[in-house]
Amino acid sequence: SKPVTIIGAGLAGAEAAWQVARRGVPVKLFEMRPEKCTPAHHTGLFAELVCSNSLRAQALENAVGLLKEEMRRLDSIIMHCADKHSVPAGGALAVDRAQFAACITQILEEHPLVEIKREECLQLDYDSGIVIVASGPLTSPELSKKIREFTGHDYFYFYDAVAPIVTLESIDMDKAFWSSRYGKGGEDYLNCPMNEQEYEKFWQELAAAERAPRKEFENEKNFEGCLPIEILARRGQDTMRYGPMKPVGLVDPGTGKRPHAVVQLRKDNAAGSLLNIVGFQTHLKWSEQKRVFRMISGLEQAEFVRYGVMHRNTYVNSPKLLFPTYQTRENLQLFFAGQITGVEGYVESAASGLTAGLNAYLMTNGMKTETLPLETAHGALAHYITSADPGNFQPMNVTFGLFPPMDVRIKDKKNRYAAYAARALEKLEQWKAASECFN
Ligand code: FAD
Repeated sequence: SKPVTIIGAGLAGAEAAWQVARRGVPVKLFEMRPEKCTPAHHTGLFAELVCSNSLRAQALENAVGLLKEEMRRLDSIIMHCADKHSVPAGGALAVDRAQFAACITQILEEHPLVEIKREECLQLDYDSGIVIVASGPLTSPELSKKIREFTGHDYFYFYDAVAPIVTLESIDMDKAFWSSRYGKGGEDYLNCPMNEQEYEKFWQELAAAERAPRKEFENEKNFEGCLPIEILARRGQDTMRYGPMKPVGLVDPGTGKRPHAVVQLRKDNAAGSLLNIVGFQTHLKWSEQKRVFRMISGLEQAEFVRYGVMHRNTYVNSPKLLFPTYQTRENLQLFFAGQITGVEGYVESAASGLTAGLNAYLMTNGMKTETLPLETAHGALAHYITSADPGNFQPMNVTFGLFPPMDVRIKDKKNRYAAYAARALEKLEQWKAASECFN
């Protein structure tokens, strides 16, 4: 059959390509990197993680843990490579970003049905066959223009920020200590404790520090879940102490007490030689990052291998434009998948690519497209982004809040979420048993 064209080999595009090709349908996969890079990617590898190396919580009582489990059961390439190249991160699934991306790249490069085009796609060109647009939050400007022509005004953007990475060997281990909150997950986080005076001085400098000049964007719109640390600081003296710098569940072995505030760092590679500063995404000037973040106890001599940066985040108005199959309402041959649909996060992006890939496969074979049951994380997420209020549409992480309530209300939250997860996996298995994608 005719190949399915996929634009972008990120989290969503790589997953979609895999789902189509493994079912015997050829794929033409366009990726502009490394020839042309986005402002956040650094390599030519597929599914490069541009910021944190965490795919978030593992537990099924957490909606993103459930989403990952569903993906495993749907034979996801992203989950296969993530599980294979995980690094310790307490209750989270974090990966060695280089090994993870290399694993996905190799599988797709070696797949006989995947033709890889290392070039920038300049148009949607959906007249000639099925196209999945998975060009991500940093879609190239040329293609953005074409998408805008297609969607009209139903096209948005906002700005995201990336946290800095420092080397372990440059950290003063007499001050920093390894521990997870409440002792969960052993020693997966390196903690830099601050007393009240240290914190106050740090806060003052951070709130007043100079930000990088804005480039193509006049109108900065941040996503609440990923606010730059300096913006949090500017909201008030204690705002960070209730956010990324909260000291709860930690005891400083130096004082035997809970610190006033804490900066946590997490391993960014399998070797553990690089650490990212958790929650410290920032748009400060690089010189200011070095000056202010070196005020953190233990980071006085920190060597920055990557500074924090801020970027455009592009997404379309899915409630107006898409069906929950990720097909556009206007042209069923044209799909969108990934962050550009307004799902938020690595895992959510990959999951939407998975659903889009399954449906692209069904279409090439003249079969009816399918949506996953609403009770599953895949189904709930697709339903949300295609039925939310289009006038106020904001990118969305998967949460149990998106799921239809249970018939019987379970009071205890953990038990309730466990019940949601059990129901989801049961529905998923029933769906699989009946779906054309698995038979
Ligand atoms: P991407 O993974 O970006 O893939 C899109 C691909 O399309 C890229 O490889 C790009 O090179 C390619 N491309 C673009 N235009 C073209 C074109 N015209 N022709 C050919 N190829 C093209 N999520 C998290 O869960 N955790 C985080 O820490 C996190 N941090 C983020 C930081 C930043 C700066 C940004 C922008 C987003 C972040 N996200 C994070 C959100 C999001 O989950 C990721 O961006 C994720 O990579 C989205 O997956 P995707 O497949 O939609 O896009």
